[in-house]
Amino acid sequence: MPPSASPLALVPFVSVENMMRLVHHIGVEQVLAELTDEIEADYGRWALFEKAPRLASHSVQGVIELMPTTDGTLYSFKYVNGHPSNAARGCQTVAAFGMLARVDTGYPLLLTEMTLLTALRTAATSAMVARRLAPAGATVMAIIGNGAQAEFQALAMKAVVGITEVRLYDIDPAATAKAERNLGASGLRIVTCTTAQAAVEGVHIITTCTADKSYATILTDNMVGAGIHINAIGGDCPGKTELHRDILTRATTFVEFEPQTRLEGEIQQMDGAYPVTEFWRVLAGEMPGRRDARQITLFDSVGFATEDFSALRYVLGRIEGSQFYQLIDMLADPDDPRDLFGMLQRAA
Ligand code: NAD
Repeated sequence: MPPSASPLALVPFVSVENMMRLVHHIGVEQVLAELTDEIEADYGRWALFEKAPRLASHSVQGVIELMPTTDGTLYSFKYVNGHPSNAARGCQTVAAFGMLARVDTGYPLLLTEMTLLTALRTAATSAMVARRLAPAGATVMAIIGNGAQAEFQALAMKAVVGITEVRLYDIDPAATAKAERNLGASGLRIVTCTTAQAAVEGVHIITTCTADKSYATILTDNMVGAGIHINAIGGDCPGKTELHRDILTRATTFVEFEPQTRLEGEIQQMDGAYPVTEFWRVLAGEMPGRRDARQITLFDSVGFATEDFSALRYVLGRIEGSQFYQLIDMLADPDDPRDLFGMLQRAA
């Protein structure tokens, strides 16, 4: 529910500045751990949510998406883009904002930046899945693609799964150097690599988070040994994948919401008969997760609306009683609800 001091027509707004203050106030790893639990709790209420593939508007340069959902009490949506060429213009590949609203009145409860929040919730979702599917005792991971998402992914795997070593590779050495620098004080052992092959040798988890609007082959079949958990987050749009399809034929694949992932995930390379498990079924005990130590598990992550819903509700709860938001005058509030025009006239 809204911060109690806020009158109905004034909407709490969390700017990028305030989101950063909030995250530092709580601690980034603590936020990642708490978000993991929030997202998992909502996966446990899967049937309650209204679910549909997100609404995507594609262009040559990228995609703009709207991601709505509701649990019947609260409603949320996120606006998010995916433009791999943006980095060359000094812009984010992925930028977002979103809103949480009451279902009973339709009035917003929260408007917030979601560029940082998306990186946090994506990393938390990766960690939620990896803590169930990664091989027992996993301590070493590789991250292929060392852009905006990379450090969040590393820290969530540290906080939630117990990863102690991260091997980094990016086609741009400057991105790897940036991630190494940013993770320098994290307590993780960081190993930088000059090839993807070198990065994945001997690891327990491989995260692919590259951005390229193409059917890329970040991992080939020979790079994936028995027992590995693959956390593939960069293939998240029609025509945009990261894994060679031979990996999919060997892996047991877990998805968020199957109708959306069939369109957007790695599995767009496979026909409709290719078997996948929606992850909520593992949490519910309806389907097995990892069955044995040699099995290759794949989380074909694309990002789903319930994860944003959980993140928005988490932020709303965390700003209550804090200084980390402003109230914005976003909804008209005439004294007589039917006298909207009179309110405009009196303002002349
Ligand atoms: P970014 O542009 O900041 O970073 C991408 C990095 O990938 C860059 O450093 C680039 O040099 C590197 N790269 C590109 N091709 C490569 C290759 N062949 N081998 C190694 N590295 C390569 O993007 P970002 O914000 O970090 O996002 C990464 C990906 O994750 C994007 O594709 C984005 O759409 C996706 N994403 C998915 C989710 C989800 O929920 N699944 C959420 C957020 C972002």
